[in-house]
Amino acid sequence: MKIAVLKEAAAGERRVSATPETVKKFVALGAEVAVEANAGLDASIADQAYADMGAAIGDRAGTLKDADIVLGVQGPDPASLKGAKPGAWIVAGLNPFGERARVDAYASGGFEALAMEFMPRITRAQSMDILSSQSNLSGYKAVLDAAAEYGRAFPMMMTAAGTVSAAKAFVMGVGVAGLQAIATARRLGAQVSATDVRAATREQILSLGAKPIFVEAVQGIEGEGAGGYATEMSDEYKAAQAELVSAHIAKQDIVITTALIPGRAAPRLISDAQIASMKPGSVIVDLAVEAGGNVEGAVAGEIVERHGVKIVGHRNVPSRLAADASALFARNLFNFLSAFWDKEQGKPVLDEEIGNAIRLTQGGKVVHERLL
Ligand code: NAD
Repeated sequence: MKIAVLKEAAAGERRVSATPETVKKFVALGAEVAVEANAGLDASIADQAYADMGAAIGDRAGTLKDADIVLGVQGPDPASLKGAKPGAWIVAGLNPFGERARVDAYASGGFEALAMEFMPRITRAQSMDILSSQSNLSGYKAVLDAAAEYGRAFPMMMTAAGTVSAAKAFVMGVGVAGLQAIATARRLGAQVSATDVRAATREQILSLGAKPIFVEAVQGIEGEGAGGYATEMSDEYKAAQAELVSAHIAKQDIVITTALIPGRAAPRLISDAQIASMKPGSVIVDLAVEAGGNVEGAVAGEIVERHGVKIVGHRNVPSRLAADASALFARNLFNFLSAFWDKEQGKPVLDEEIGNAIRLTQGGKVVHERLL
């Protein structure tokens, strides 16, 4: 059983899908591990650190030769996978809706593609959930990115020269990223408020010491669908939310938006008119910018200024914390493969629940129900 760890090829991707720690654990399971040279460089991991744990370091062809499992952070280019065994597993964040042609190519190439972002949100799979591990870091980094762009301090400071008032930070979308953004902004000393369409988040916001901003008594507020994800809201709810947010947002210095709806464009939460109502020097960070954006005028990969307000739209925010993001991502992959490791066969064997949830291609065909 050979596991190949590839150097990520996507522009701006600094993470790596295995660390010396997970290589050591795979070797202990009896696997052979090959790591492409320089795979960990951008995450501050030298080739030698992998070699010390038993990995073979080589070029891409050598790394892939006879591989049973290919690990990646993002899906590797199917054309670059020559040499892997027929039926080899591709285990990575495969962006199945955004990279449909690539999924088709995995099928025609005879690979079994396993999309880690489709991992079901069930208790036993929590430690395998790349969306959670990466979102948590994104929420943290979003606040630091906001602080770096903000020309003022976050905490209240009483000095001999006078008082600096605390920044007001508003977090929109209180999933994994939003909760970490609230906690981080609080730690930096901001006055924090937050909102979500899922009523269950009110308690979570309060428990982090922040102020919940919620539309009351409107039909369609229980915006929670399958797996705890948000669903599309009623028009009445959307109108009420926009009004409430408009009044609140004009008083904010920092806004972090994190709202996503799986498989769809991100909901628009902030309009240009709302941006214009904010004070000059305020900062908005749009963590959903790559899914279409929560903020009007946000541009993926850029920091733009509108009405004196900076709108931060960094791509691939977890990659901006490449060392920690890689460590958690790599553990997610190890936790997944080791949980299904069959000692007798010396390889992982998936069960139906998780296999059906994440398997995109098999036997030359696309097999996932959400892609048919
Ligand atoms: P997400 O990244 O899909 O979305 C971020 C947040 O945006 C969500 O809280 C969502 O409700 C919110 N949102 C969507 N549309 C909005 C709108 N119009 N206005 C305001 N907010 C809006 O969410 P996530 O981080 O993946 O978390 C979703 C849920 O899943 C949470 O309850 C989380 O605790 C849960 N979860 C469970 C597990 C598990 O059990 N294994 C793992 C991770 C997360």
